[in-house]
Amino acid sequence: MKLHEYQSKQLFGRYGVPVPQGLVADTPAAARAAAEKIGLPVVIKSQVLVGGRGKAGGVKVARTLDEAETRARDILSLTIKGLPVRKVLVDPAADIQGEIYLGIVIDRATRRATMMTSSAGGMEIEEVAARTPEKIVRMSIDPFMGLPEYDARDAAAQIGLPRDYWPEFVQIARSLAQAFAANDASLAEINPLAMVRVDGHTRLMALDGKIVIDDSAIPRHPDLAAMRDPDEESEAEKQARAAGLNFISLEGNIGCMVNGAGLAMATLDIIRFYGGTAANFLDVAGGARADKVAAALRIILADPKVKVVLFNIFGGITRGDEVAHGIVTALEEVKTSVPMVARIVGTNQEEGNRILAGAHIATANTFSEAVQKAVELSKQ
Ligand code: GDP
Ligand code: MN
Repeated sequence: MKLHEYQSKQLFGRYGVPVPQGLVADTPAAARAAAEKIGLPVVIKSQVLVGGRGKAGGVKVARTLDEAETRARDILSLTIKGLPVRKVLVDPAADIQGEIYLGIVIDRATRRATMMTSSAGGMEIEEVAARTPEKIVRMSIDPFMGLPEYDARDAAAQIGLPRDYWPEFVQIARSLAQAFAANDASLAEINPLAMVRVDGHTRLMALDGKIVIDDSAIPRHPDLAAMRDPDEESEAEKQARAAGLNFISLEGNIGCMVNGAGLAMATLDIIRFYGGTAANFLDVAGGARADKVAAALRIILADPKVKVVLFNIFGGITRGDEVAHGIVTALEEVKTSVPMVARIVGTNQEEGNRILAGAHIATANTFSEAVQKAVELSKQ
């Protein structure tokens, strides 16, 4: 789950990261009132769950109250990368002297959280990684020790940060590492961490913030769960989550319903092997009952890209007849001409296949036979 910039910065602030004291507004008038409270100049920032808002015109400085209102109106009418802007953050505008990047991610190779920092702040880190990877310094974080001062200082030295900033940098990096661990994050990022001029001094401040919380850890953080933005998910993803399905939408045209995440991934691989493309990853999980299967099929059929549906069920605690009943139930409600291929083996497979044959759904005996049939149908 992603949190908005204003939420991320509030969270980072609680761990000791210096952040601007801004206010959130959802109308131009409210943005004007916020600017009046904060004091001019201000920066008006779109709150949408994507990066690159600056480039898309979603971050604007305002020097007067009228300008704050106009800018807020413009930004609130934007749609950035498909997401409508519903809120803006009004922050005191910063006098920026320089920008660096600071982030913490999970590194699967080392199986640890890893701090990444770079002198190339402000631009998207993916771009830095692609063009000038030597500008990114990585520091692996020991899960028991956390991020020690000496590692943070070493990183600051390696990116060529002037010595005056090292103590602040060390404190900010360690605060971010604590925020990352305490909130079960998979990403915590400050971009830019800016050198900001305040009252004749220059200090480091987090002008942007982004945190992604591991969805599996959400039950441990009811306070964060309450911050979820419903716009983050598509309608299909929302329905899938409510039904307890593991669902990810993909680009292809073969709708898949599989029990078990491993089998679902293998199914995507075999589809590709036979020259087809999957429209989704969908794991109904072990022991799925008919209602869950029906919900899954409704979600698959709601996708206009789907040209064929493939069921790949390996029955253990999942029963073939239950799955077949679910499919038939869903098809009684949703009238569709989309062809379907089912491969059901294991527990109650005979009964399951008999039910499907009665509903005129093609069945296959093996995994590869089912996938080949589905791929063929997807090309007609
Ligand atoms: P992103 O494009 O979605 O990552 O949004 P950011 O919050 O990082 O803002 C993009 C850029 O706007 C930053 O890299 C800064 O250069 C600039 N910016 C952000 N806040 C301020 C501010 O308070 N004052 C000024 N002058 N520029 C800002
Ligand atoms: Mn940014």
